[in-house]
Amino acid sequence: RASAELQPLDSTISDSERFRDCRKFVMKCSSCHSSFDFGGIQASNKYQTTYSGIKCLSCQQMLSPLAVSAQLEHFLRHEISAYYAGWLVCDDCGIKTRQVSVYGRRCIGKSGKAYGCKGIMRYVYSDKQLYNQLLYLQSLFDVDKAKKRVLKPLVADHEFEDKENKPVALNQGELDALVEQNRDLFRSHQRVVDKYLAECGRRYVDMGGIFEFMSVFKR
Ligand SMILES: [Zn+2]
Ligand SMILES: [Zn+2]
Repeated sequence: RASAELQPLDSTISDSERFRDCRKFVMKCSSCHSSFDFGGIQASNKYQTTYSGIKCLSCQQMLSPLAVSAQLEHFLRHEISAYYAGWLVCDDCGIKTRQVSVYGRRCIGKSGKAYGCKGIMRYVYSDKQLYNQLLYLQSLFDVDKAKKRVLKPLVADHEFEDKENKPVALNQGELDALVEQNRDLFRSHQRVVDKYLAECGRRYVDMGGIFEFMSVFKR
């Protein structure tokens, strides 16, 4: 059946796997200027999601929703300009260029005339990567993923050198309450990402279509 065939492509991939190569969303506290990796509603020693939003644990100050949205927007713009910079890299000799060769995807080589190397040029930051990066940012504010504890972990378990510093996981009751209290706020942050997903939409018509279609079969 269609649903059974389509599902494995998308929903059996965990966020840890799918977003493995995504850049982390680093937030900066507006009060003390310390920065931290934001991973959604999950345990961290650097920040805490409270009933009224995100709190910096260095100075105990809340980050205003506007500050969060502004940083999210800044990060998104940075990713999108990196994508539009359009760097190409040769899969053989590793030469990097922004020059699209008149010889198609063939490596332009040192001469710039497409000889001397048989490599193929690929975009350093591909459509797929940008799309994935946007989905990653959206997932960070997905409270239902937080509730199911399926968000990409901030630090993989084996990466904790000092077990004593490992943040204490939230208990389910606490987590459920935080999810409901932050649902609207986090949804408003997701809308910032939605805007960029829509803006770049025409580039993802096909890919977006597939994902949208598949989301019908999710769960
Ligand atoms: Zn702070
Ligand atoms: Zn080359």
